[in-house]
Amino acid sequence: MNLHEYQAKEILSGYGVRIQRGYVASSPEEAVEEARKLNNETGTDFFVIKAQVHAGGRGKGGGVKLAKSIDEVYSISDEIIGMNLVTPQTSKEGKKVHQVLIAEDVYYPGDSEVEEYYISVLLNRSSAKNMIMYSTEGGMDIETVAEKTPELIHTLDICPEDGLTNENAKKIADNLNLSGTAKQEMISFVKALYDAYDKSDSSLFEINPVIKTSDDKILAVDAKVTIDDNALFRHKDYLEMRDIREENPIEVEAKEVGLNYVDLDGNVGCMVNGAGLAMATMDLIKQAGGEPANFLDVGGTADSERVETAFRIIIKDANVKAILVNIFGGIVRCDRVANGIVDACKNMKDEISVPIIVRLEGTNSEIAKEIIDSSGLNFYSAVEFKEAADKVQKVLARA
Ligand code: GDP
Ligand code: MN
Repeated sequence: MNLHEYQAKEILSGYGVRIQRGYVASSPEEAVEEARKLNNETGTDFFVIKAQVHAGGRGKGGGVKLAKSIDEVYSISDEIIGMNLVTPQTSKEGKKVHQVLIAEDVYYPGDSEVEEYYISVLLNRSSAKNMIMYSTEGGMDIETVAEKTPELIHTLDICPEDGLTNENAKKIADNLNLSGTAKQEMISFVKALYDAYDKSDSSLFEINPVIKTSDDKILAVDAKVTIDDNALFRHKDYLEMRDIREENPIEVEAKEVGLNYVDLDGNVGCMVNGAGLAMATMDLIKQAGGEPANFLDVGGTADSERVETAFRIIIKDANVKAILVNIFGGIVRCDRVANGIVDACKNMKDEISVPIIVRLEGTNSEIAKEIIDSSGLNFYSAVEFKEAADKVQKVLARA
């Protein structure tokens, strides 16, 4: 589960990470109220208004702007709230902005001594450890740094049992060329950041930029957090932070009906049982020159009700031009699955307009093929895996 910047900062602050302070607002009026509150608490007269969407690169897309007065807080918030923010990380349609974060401008206007660093903690799946990535070259161009001068990005594996040691934290501060107070600040910052990542069961905590002010304070200006969904049962308070407006609506609906569905960009809808077979099916579609429209694992019970639910989810994606059903019938016999598919498609006769390629392998697969072939519906049956993918290509070429 991804969080908004303001929520991520709340978590960070709770673990003692120093943050750029701010409040979230859903209207320009509220933004002004929050700016006044911030002024009372911090004395700041300068603010930064930041679009809250689940996508990075907001600065480049015009979603992060400075306000030098309360009037500007109003006008800028008015402009950002409701806009479709297009950034290098969104689709070309962009993301609708529902909320803005009103934060204190921590670059102390005119302060040219502010340094921007990049620091993230993430799960390194290949080493099965946590990893800290950090660089002196933080800020909006970190992607270019990663591409052109990757040697400027340091990585450090952290053994989860040991956690982040003092030595680790010192090494990071040294490599960031810090000394004196700033070095001590960075050591505490990194330790608190790792603690937040670890205790919140996250798979990513990315802070870009972390800044050093001219008076040697180290603080988080941005925060991107991904919490491990499998650990959410331990964090009921984070569950309340979920903003489904930011999620893919078809995926949200699929989750509600208990289907394991991931939306993709292609045009071949896939209905498969078992995650492994689903992955293999997607590979095969690609090899045959197609593009999968989704990953969908219907699980062990492929009865007509479940098959119908799965079809309904698949055809919500308007890009789908053909559907490939690839199901292995072991204990759930193929003939039963075939009857389920036929029943589901009869129920949905007026809704499904695309051809369906059906491959059922396993117990009673011949009987299943007969059921499919004699159904009188818009089906193409296949026995071999490759044959199924090729048939998908053929029907797409004809469409
Ligand atoms: P992102 O573009 O989505 O990563 O959003 P960020 O929160 O990182 O903001 C983009 C950029 O705005 C940062 O890299 C900073 O350079 C700049 N920025 C953020 N907060 C402030 C601030 O308080 N003052 C000033 N002057 N610049 C800021
Ligand atoms: Mn950023």
